[in-house]
Amino acid sequence: MNVNQSAPPLPPFGQSQPVYPGYHPSSYGGQPGSTAPPTPYGAYNGPVPGYQQTPPPGVSRAPPSSEAPPASTAQAPSGQAAYGQFGQGDVQNGPSSTVQMQRFPGSQPFGSVPLAPVVSQPTVLQPYGPPPTSAQVTAQLAGMQISGAVAPALPPVGLGYGPPTSLASASGSFPNSGLYGSYPQGQAPPLSQAQGHLGAQPPQRSAPPQASSFTSPASGGPRMPSMTGPLLSGQGFGGPSLSQPNHVSSPPPQALPPGTQMTGPPGPPPPMHSSQQPGYQLQQNGSFGPARGPQSNYGSSYPGAPTFGSQPGPPQPLPPKRLDPDAIPSPIQVIEDDRNNRGSEPFVTGVRGQVPPLVTTNFLVKDQGNASPRYIRCTSYNIPCTSDMAKQAQVPLAAVIKPLARLPPEEASPYVVDHGESGPLRCNRCKAYMCPFMQFVEGGRRFQCCFCSCINDVPPQYFQHLDHTGKRVDAYDRPELSLGSYEFLATVDYCKNNKFPSPPAFIFMIDVSYNAIRSGLVRLLCEELKSLLDYLPREGGAEESAIRVGFVTYNKVLHFYNVKSSLAQPQMMVVSDVADMFVPLLDGFLVNVSESRAVITSLLDQIPEMFADTRETETVFAPVIQAGMEALKAAECAGKLFLFHTSLPIAEAPGKLKNRDDRKLINTDKEKTLFQPQTGAYQTLAKECVAQGCCVDLFLFPNQYVDVATLSVVPQLTGGSVYKYACFQVENDQERFLSDLRRDVQKVVGFDAVMRVRTSTGIRAVDFFGAFYMSNTTDVELAGLDGDKTVTVEFKHDDRLNEESGALLQCALLYTSCAGQRRLRIHNLALNCCTQLADLYRNCETDTLINYMAKFAYRGVLNSPVKTVRDTLITQCAQILACYRKNCASPSSAGQLILPECMKLLPVYLNCVLKSDVLQPGAEVTTDDRAYVRQLVTSMDVAETNVFFYPRLLPLTKSPIESATEPPAVRASEERLSNGDIYLLENGLNLFLWVGASVQQGVVQSLFSVSSFSQITSGLSVLPVLDNPLSKKVRGLIDSLRAQRSRYMKLIVVKQEDKLEMLFKHFLVEDKSLSGGASYVDFLCHMHKEIRQLLS
Ligand SMILES: [Zn+2]
Repeated sequence: MNVNQSAPPLPPFGQSQPVYPGYHPSSYGGQPGSTAPPTPYGAYNGPVPGYQQTPPPGVSRAPPSSEAPPASTAQAPSGQAAYGQFGQGDVQNGPSSTVQMQRFPGSQPFGSVPLAPVVSQPTVLQPYGPPPTSAQVTAQLAGMQISGAVAPALPPVGLGYGPPTSLASASGSFPNSGLYGSYPQGQAPPLSQAQGHLGAQPPQRSAPPQASSFTSPASGGPRMPSMTGPLLSGQGFGGPSLSQPNHVSSPPPQALPPGTQMTGPPGPPPPMHSSQQPGYQLQQNGSFGPARGPQSNYGSSYPGAPTFGSQPGPPQPLPPKRLDPDAIPSPIQVIEDDRNNRGSEPFVTGVRGQVPPLVTTNFLVKDQGNASPRYIRCTSYNIPCTSDMAKQAQVPLAAVIKPLARLPPEEASPYVVDHGESGPLRCNRCKAYMCPFMQFVEGGRRFQCCFCSCINDVPPQYFQHLDHTGKRVDAYDRPELSLGSYEFLATVDYCKNNKFPSPPAFIFMIDVSYNAIRSGLVRLLCEELKSLLDYLPREGGAEESAIRVGFVTYNKVLHFYNVKSSLAQPQMMVVSDVADMFVPLLDGFLVNVSESRAVITSLLDQIPEMFADTRETETVFAPVIQAGMEALKAAECAGKLFLFHTSLPIAEAPGKLKNRDDRKLINTDKEKTLFQPQTGAYQTLAKECVAQGCCVDLFLFPNQYVDVATLSVVPQLTGGSVYKYACFQVENDQERFLSDLRRDVQKVVGFDAVMRVRTSTGIRAVDFFGAFYMSNTTDVELAGLDGDKTVTVEFKHDDRLNEESGALLQCALLYTSCAGQRRLRIHNLALNCCTQLADLYRNCETDTLINYMAKFAYRGVLNSPVKTVRDTLITQCAQILACYRKNCASPSSAGQLILPECMKLLPVYLNCVLKSDVLQPGAEVTTDDRAYVRQLVTSMDVAETNVFFYPRLLPLTKSPIESATEPPAVRASEERLSNGDIYLLENGLNLFLWVGASVQQGVVQSLFSVSSFSQITSGLSVLPVLDNPLSKKVRGLIDSLRAQRSRYMKLIVVKQEDKLEMLFKHFLVEDKSLSGGASYVDFLCHMHKEIRQLLS
């Protein structure tokens, strides 16, 4: 037999992995728990010496001062003077007559730039009591009757859904930069009303801090019986000693709407409403008590408060019981349990419908036929067989797909399969690609498509015999027959215009208007680029990147630069006709970095000098993108534009914008317009960019409103990224900006991509979320796609599914690599199908559900009032949980809230989405912040949304200093903070170090090198580098947290009781928020009420 010879030789599997070109393991950010702190820019800081020495060896750079005197005077310099900087006299006439000399119109007003002063704030300390002794805690515990999960308290339902409290309005003095930008110090709102709120008795993590919530019978009412119904096996009844309650009692029946039938044993007699108030008010030493003024008279003072849900008729009776925060499902516990249970074994993908470990668990993946969860995560791994079942459950069926996800170094990148001229083998009918689920029949001469059942001939060169089980004998030699993920080399048929692509290009387009120069941005950027250009993405073992680069500067006009290697000096060409943008030069605009290094370095030295005295404050924006796109078109290549932009583009030009920010629109039907672009011009432009494979990354440096909603349209539709540095100042923000820039420039990108998701008969992809463009209903077009971006796909039934065959997904991404190679990346995933709803609920993934629901809601605000969007989310969540209760849970009293094990965190996480800045903004959140976050979340992966909506709060001095692992997190609630401790809080974008007022003096000394708490500078963003174990540990932890995230998190040191604490508390998401968002406990009670209404 020589049949084996028909197969092209392939490397054996599981052994040495062919290097997947361009995926530098060192750039993988690592996972929590990895021992060595990963280096985020490994390649960058790596073995190449002298990165920080800007001019590479052997490159001579003309001193800028001698070559390019700054454009003379403070008045408008003459065009001749500016032009003369290039001094060679051979360029002034470009290929077109519209090429002009440079002008610096001096007509614009100056100096309206608000600069944030750096002010250190002496803190007036409130007296703090000593932390509770263990005896006190014990006494508290002894005073509680832990048997019941509920304690009488004032009705929480509806609490927090009223209009923002007066405190929220008082915080309106937050600067525009908000939480997402650099926060100028000294402008935080006063904290007067919140002072003293951190009680004298800080809770300890080891003991339930809310003792008062258990001791309130005296003022509240009778205690609940310890059990109100049968427990499901394995589900604990929620006392504080049980860590995993998902089956907790809740307010007793009198909270039910009139007419509700009770099925469980009757509860104790209802306390009268009037007597509930005092009981509630007793709970003020926790974080959800009515300590903040207006809430104390809740119940009568907000008749017009938005009703949560939609209950017509008279006000509902209020449930008088409060849940104990320790008795309700804890995200921390769920995360920890999953780490303990699933972190040690690799996740092997051979079994259909397996739910992977949580995104917060550090685990390895072995591909045995299904795509790694790093590439695809689903809301459920068991899909209802019928659409009726799916409608009943209301669980969205969606997959969050990250086609180019980076992998940890231990995991093999996808193999590249080359089928030569014949190209990848596909089904003739549905065009699905060969995959492990295709069934070979007739002795191997044909195969039946697993997606559409079509029988296809096997081409002779692909023929192979089958073994006795019907499997091809070469199955394990071929990635496409045995793995979930792999790549095919594409043939010319897969290329635009039937031509293999050229390598892509990067074009750096730098705003040189007054603001950009004044902030130091231009100088910083140019200096950085000189070295960063050595680190453009490369493929495999390539010596240098194939990517070519070009440079443009602009304000009201555009300046193109010829940096051809043969020139002694760069040449500038100015295009002022921004209405009809064209590229004035072809040859010499896009160049190879190493060939043109001297000219490029000279240019980057000269740019800051040339514009040093500019008075031009106006900018254009759309013409800049147009120019970059035209340049790529002329060069017949795909590529990426890096735009560095500072202001609202008000200069006369296409895409000109006006300031239309209007906070009065919040909570009105017109609020959606704040998220919509103000002109359609950018969509049109984006469409042209996509056709050219021109991806746009936008770095914004605004001092005021710049209309992020409009400016981010092109990045959003081209698969690009938006970064925002409000009130940028070099000294405060350079680390964050440079880190983001380095990562962004070095990241591997697929260009000119098209993604298609095929499904087996019975379901189909119906909706898509992410940063891309779609010109039809099936093809996701991405001018660029990097390893951080996800595309979320929703599926609907179009037929009945079959339990036996399950459901299949195949995601195919056609793209051009950084070296210009055309490839197809294929990810396959098989899911189970069920006829029992319980199977659906047992195989759900809440983190992915939340990712989907957040994206759904964040898109919804474009078209619907925000309140409608919130109500829709709540209703859907209640329906999901009610369906479980009705169909899957054991019968029990209506007084019990029963949550599916896999979804027990759905309420807490959903509440975080509901009270996020997009859906319920605080007074300090700007319109631009909201638009920025809205588009960021759209392409976040599951790990990112998880930490973004529920931040990680890490106590720093609880665990031994020697411990190499991250300290265990605590719940994001003020009551978990001990004033004798220090905490780090991160959400992927923000990083806080909170210092308790009673922290030991030695700790203060070790970390901050000052002798007392009062001497710590509030708002500090860098910890001093000190040679002691605690300092090393904390700084190491900060580095490690940053390495895990796709964007650099700037540190803000917050002192307890300091003004800045308000910012920090915004992230304690289990608490009631100042903008009216409910506490976790309150929301859970509300959710319970909604569920009971659905069931009644
Ligand atoms: Zn097919």
